[in-house]
Parts: sequence; structure tokens; C-alpha cells
Amino acid sequence: MLHRIPRWFQHLFPRYTWNLDRQEKIIYLTFDDGPIPIITEWVLETLKQYAVKGTFFVVGENASRHPQIINKINAEGHSIGNHTFHHLKGWGVSTHNYYKDVERCSDVIKEQTGILPKFFRPPHGRIKPSQAKLLREKYELIMWDTLTVDYDKNLDEKKCLTNSIRATRAGSIVVFHDSIKAEKNLRYVLPKYIEHFQKLGYIFNAL
Ligand SMILES: [Zn+2]
Repeated sequence: MLHRIPRWFQHLFPRYTWNLDRQEKIIYLTFDDGPIPIITEWVLETLKQYAVKGTFFVVGENASRHPQIINKINAEGHSIGNHTFHHLKGWGVSTHNYYKDVERCSDVIKEQTGILPKFFRPPHGRIKPSQAKLLREKYELIMWDTLTVDYDKNLDEKKCLTNSIRATRAGSIVVFHDSIKAEKNLRYVLPKYIEHFQKLGYIFNAL
């Protein structure tokens, strides 16, 4: 499993955002697939403890079940992005239905926080060009250059941490998951990852 997305691959898709300014010592943490009780709340506590801001790409279905958590994400100064309502893989779905599912997620976020999300991340990174073209009219499409692979339960947590640190650069967009699958690695890696980069003078901002 690749932790770092190669540059040649990013260049194939120049209209997606893979990273931000490489000259600034800023890292952009993102958390996909929540909100999930206990896990997302633990992430929020951890971010608060280190005075760090991040971005949560929420699944509309989860957001509609847990309005108090999505409100907390917003109230604590983090960004909220759209990750579809049903966590859809774009490849198997018509552009029309995909778009409708994305809009349904935005409706939930708007209803609960009053904010219309500006950022979109396709689940599994799988999206058809026609879908991307349509969504770009309303959203910035956010990919990543660093994948922690926290969702792989067979990945040793120490290795997960080392690989994630090694893949990160200034301006990196880093993917974690506030999901049940990722919980084991997430709880081990996130605090140590933040500490490592804060010691080196990096800050963590929301998108
Ligand atoms: Zn996802």
C-alpha cells in the first residue's frame, strides 16, 4: 500500500488539490468517513489538546444520525467537507445519481451547521471525469498526498506512524479516518504524529 502519492500521478489530475504550498511549514490533517460517536469525539479532544485544526470529510448518512457531533466539529473551528451521503464509489454510479447523493450530503451539513461545504472528497478516490467536472462548479476537489492507511487493521501501528511521517512534506494533505476500522491505528498514530511535527516547528491548519 502506497503511503505517498507519486508526483507523476498527481500531474495526471492537475485539477484536483493534492497538496498546498510546499514553502510553508503547514500540514493539513483530514478525517474521512465520520462522524462516529466516541471516535470522532476522541479526535476532537486530541486536536484540542494540541491546539490543532483539521478538516472532516463527513458521510451524510453519519452526519444525519449525529448532529451534535457535526455541530461540535464546526463550533471548535474545524472545516467540514462533503464525502457523499452514502459513501458512494463514483465508478459504478451514473453522474446524475452521484451528484444527487453529494447534494444530499451538503443539505444535511447546511441544515445542521448553517454552512454550505466548499470542499469535496470522492470516497475511495474513485470518481468519473464527468462527475468531477460537474462537482468542480460548486466544490474544490480535495485529494491527498499522504495516506496513513490507518484503516488497515493488519498494519502494525508503529509502522503506520513511521510510514506516515516519512510520506509527509510541508504543505501535505494527510488522510486519517475517524471510523471503527481505523480506530486502533488512529489512536496510536495521531498524537505521536502531531507531536513529531510540532517539535519540528510545523503547524496544523484546517483547509
Ligand atoms: Zn471514505
